[in-house]
Amino acid sequence: MSVAGNLARVREQIADSCRRAGVKEDSVTLIAVSKTVGDEAIMEAYNAGQRQFGENRVQEYLRKAEALPDDIEWNLIGHLQTNKAKYIIGPDIFLLQSLDRLELAKTLEKYCALRDVNLRVLIQVNLSREESKSGVFKEDLAEFLGDLTACSHLEIKGLMTIGPHTDDEKAIRAVFAEAKALFDRLACQIPDFEYLSMGMSNDFELAILEGSNMVRVGTSIFGARNYSK
Ligand SMILES: *Cc1c(COP(=O)(O)O)cnc(C)c1O
Repeated sequence: MSVAGNLARVREQIADSCRRAGVKEDSVTLIAVSKTVGDEAIMEAYNAGQRQFGENRVQEYLRKAEALPDDIEWNLIGHLQTNKAKYIIGPDIFLLQSLDRLELAKTLEKYCALRDVNLRVLIQVNLSREESKSGVFKEDLAEFLGDLTACSHLEIKGLMTIGPHTDDEKAIRAVFAEAKALFDRLACQIPDFEYLSMGMSNDFELAILEGSNMVRVGTSIFGARNYSK
């Protein structure tokens, strides 16, 4: 199937999940995760109307942001090394979705202050507690948010989380439900706390049923990734 065809199918699945969840069909933002994907395939999605894309490597993101249309909204979704932080400050980033530690926040704040710009971020939370995942643990979140008040150039726009690595739908939904409860609680305290980013190719429909309003889908749109390229 073509990228445009895949994209249409994913959009239909999102709309269907929204109906089942009882939310408006346009209330979920689709991030097309284009890491490792070539420019041609990205342009096929772009020409089918997709504007939000997600990347996880700084070098690759910078090259694509330069080469591809200016009205693309880029999201950084992967673990960001502190020494790469300075390269991502700029107008092209829609959201850094993977703010997961204070050291990174302080470094981003420093470069934002130097350049007098703000950066919109999601806090990545690790609710499944899998060691392979980054993210702030639930019990550390209040302290982390307290520390972030010193970072006046970081706009905290919501939470990002990754579902547990399992086929057990109940276990996946339980983690997403926990994220949603956390999100709702924080949304009462933090102004403009808008996005709950959860759900990937394997679990975005479950995520929407549990209240996700932003899904990050790669494989179901672009096919299996080829890391050797
Ligand atoms: C790669 C990636 C995705 C997309 O995963 P697919 O399974 O290809 O849809 C979503 N979120 C994050 C954080 C990722 O690293």
